[in-house]
Amino acid sequence: MRCPCGCGERIELMVLEEAHTRWDITIDDAGRPTLHPSVWRKSGCRSHFWMRRGRIHWCD
Ligand SMILES: [Zn+2]
Repeated sequence: MRCPCGCGERIELMVLEEAHTRWDITIDDAGRPTLHPSVWRKSGCRSHFWMRRGRIHWCD
């Protein structure tokens, strides 16, 4: 997926092994993904957000 902040960087959730975190991905009946826990980039733009039902919810 592309970073939703607009910086254009790719986020490879499944290979972020250095984060020591796995994401649970749930797909609802409409095909919209929900990720748990939140995504917090440790480098680059340092975006921190949740994805709920295919929509981005920013953390402060
Ligand atoms: Zn970004």
